[in-house]
Amino acid sequence: MTAPDHPIILCHDCGAQHALPPAVPGHRAECRRCGAVLRHFRSGGLGHAVALAIASVILFVTANLFPVLTFELEGRAQTATLLSGSVALWDGGYEVLGVLVFFVLFLAPLAQVLGTLYVVMPLAAGRRAAPGAAWTFRTVARLRRWAMAEVFLLGLIVAYVKLSDLAELEPGASLAALVAFILVQVWGQASLSPFEVWERIAPQTRAAQAAAAGPARLTACHDCHQVVAGTEGDCPRCGAGLHHRKPDSLRRGWALIAAAVILYIPANLLPIMTVVYFGAGQPDTILSGVEELIAAEMWPVALLVFFASITVPVLKLIGLAYLLWSVQRRSPKRRRDRTRLYRLIEGVGRWSMVDIFMISLLAALVQLGAIATIHAELGAVAFAAVVVITMLASESFDPRLIWDEPQRRDSSHD
Ligand SMILES: [Zn+2]
Ligand SMILES: [Zn+2]
Repeated sequence: MTAPDHPIILCHDCGAQHALPPAVPGHRAECRRCGAVLRHFRSGGLGHAVALAIASVILFVTANLFPVLTFELEGRAQTATLLSGSVALWDGGYEVLGVLVFFVLFLAPLAQVLGTLYVVMPLAAGRRAAPGAAWTFRTVARLRRWAMAEVFLLGLIVAYVKLSDLAELEPGASLAALVAFILVQVWGQASLSPFEVWERIAPQTRAAQAAAAGPARLTACHDCHQVVAGTEGDCPRCGAGLHHRKPDSLRRGWALIAAAVILYIPANLLPIMTVVYFGAGQPDTILSGVEELIAAEMWPVALLVFFASITVPVLKLIGLAYLLWSVQRRSPKRRRDRTRLYRLIEGVGRWSMVDIFMISLLAALVQLGAIATIHAELGAVAFAAVVVITMLASESFDPRLIWDEPQRRDSSHD
């Protein structure tokens, strides 16, 4: 039984249609078909989210004001701030890597906190949505996977361990702010319900409206999940292009997987950085970096780097290829498991950036002229490209294809 004023939603992971029950604080609505969370109505309300977003802005600024790490060797000291790594990569001739690190470590997180604040603050005060709120909130959601402060923290830990037997290392004043920023960000995301924000910007389609739209095929916006009759044009709520399924999902998926597989070879064969210590230089590949950590008996970090840099990219590529292949075969098997696999691939991909952050920090810290220098090498560019391309590949895959029933082909089927 569906009351006519219940909001209608199509599950973003499997496309199943749901009429959401009335919102009760703390209530979580899950898709009965694939288990995706459709709406989590938070008890804290939007005021809570505003407070956390303001705290995030303050912590982010603080995290950028002071050094995060200081490196001392032979009486010489070098400090690194959050952005030093990006600058060091740029100065070392790897502008692309410098820009990538700047984007994922500075621009994306900053846009996220400021964008959230801009959208949520008027809503929390009971006012109308700010101009451009829909576009801003859509962009904030799209940037989420590219904001990688927590991955950077892991890269910093690896850099710390790698340098700790070479020299004296001191955590800087901004490190605490960075850790606090990451925690407040997680808390902030957990306390904000995107469904409620979108509902306040413009209400979700109700059951009666959807029914009145008649037998026309309903389409859900990829970005704000508004349900619209028909499949053409732009979303009336957020302005994103409407598609019944993500366009060209399979073809783009295969092309990106092929590109990533090809780049995976130089990423592993070429050195990712060179360490010059008292005039003697030695290039490091991803694997030799892991071997060094093992030789130094730093097992947990060795395992972490091996997992993030070698296992995750390979498993992601195999997993995505399997998903594309099973969709092309229109396999009806294990749909729920395959949807879970997709969510796992989506969530884990960004963690492969650990090595890139580690290299950026080493390149920033170890610039002591004749004593010791570390700089990035071409393999790091190939590796970063693999990480970015696999992230784009999982983004372009549409998990609803797993659930789509085959078009009726009975006539051509004996
Ligand atoms: Zn579902
Ligand atoms: Zn939309």
